[in-house]
Amino acid sequence: MSRFLIDRYAPLEPYTPGEQPQDMQYIKLNTNEFPYPPAPEVLAAVNADAAAQLRLYCDPECTVLRQALGENYGVPAANIFTANGSDDILNFAFQAFAGAQKPAFFPDVTYGFYKVFGALHGVDCTELPLRDDFTVDPADYYRRGGMVVLANPNAPTGIALTRDQIERIVQENPDQVVLIDEAYVDFGAESCVPLTARYDNLLVVMTYSKSRALAGARLGFAIGSRGLIEDLERIKYSTNPYNVNRITQACGTAAARFDGYYRSRCAEIAATRDFTAAALREMGFRVLPSQTNFLFAEKPGMDGAELYQALRRRGILVRHFTQPRIRQFNRITVGTRGQMDVLLAAVKEITEGGTPDEKR
Ligand SMILES: *Cc1c(COP(=O)(O)O)cnc(C)c1O
Repeated sequence: MSRFLIDRYAPLEPYTPGEQPQDMQYIKLNTNEFPYPPAPEVLAAVNADAAAQLRLYCDPECTVLRQALGENYGVPAANIFTANGSDDILNFAFQAFAGAQKPAFFPDVTYGFYKVFGALHGVDCTELPLRDDFTVDPADYYRRGGMVVLANPNAPTGIALTRDQIERIVQENPDQVVLIDEAYVDFGAESCVPLTARYDNLLVVMTYSKSRALAGARLGFAIGSRGLIEDLERIKYSTNPYNVNRITQACGTAAARFDGYYRSRCAEIAATRDFTAAALREMGFRVLPSQTNFLFAEKPGMDGAELYQALRRRGILVRHFTQPRIRQFNRITVGTRGQMDVLLAAVKEITEGGTPDEKR
């Protein structure tokens, strides 16, 4: 920290992203990326012509991309806001809909960035404990008097609320924004997008990072009432109008047009997930019921950090969190069936006696 940083940012604890190691090839199961290549049309969009066009500014309104997204979700382009990853949108939402006079409410175990954006924008954040089984109690979020932020399905638990449960939360907070982060919704949960036409306080946030093989392109979007979208646009045009670059707009449009490819791959991932969960349970793991592309699992009697380290030594990267309530768990991204076979063999070796390197 330099002596120039102003006081209010000194106590900030920035978000720690999952490792993106550059030293060697791991089986990378730590940041919930898509294990399959993008649709061929997406690769075709990143060609020399597109690169040559980079000399020109991109369309700040993302007109073609929003049109393509709108067709997939059955909503007008005017109700869609696009941004540089959904983190960008979460940042704008905490800035626009919460603040010194407007608190925010989210679970104690959820996406770690909510707390960081809250702190960045001086928001009084209340973390409401999940139940003992790591489910959200919807009633905790009724009549809260501030912005409600829920990842659905939740991360890193993988557990989802139903659309009806969320609709009730939206109804119970008519004068507050209810933000539903649907980063993982394509792997099996019910989307709340159909509710956005009826509730002007509901904002659904989505990303092409997890289910559309575009994590490195940075593309997120939000669907909501025209008023909420205008508010986000107000912040964007006060920050960086060109936050979705030209190549990303082209990739996103191509991905949106070939949605069927991704939907069938997501179904494949869901099947691999269920297979992997069953295999882990057979080895004595407690695995939370996941509707995502990851599994959150602990082995009673085994230290979570130790398992993480032992897998890492075998070239397999998973995500371990140190928060006391979940430090016995690891979050394992569901990869290809081949990757899961390697993971399961390694877990078996580690849990059933270990190899010389652990006995040292
Ligand atoms: C990965 C993730 C995000 C961020 O996604 P980007 O679009 O890559 O910024 C947001 N919310 C949750 C719950 C996530 O898991």
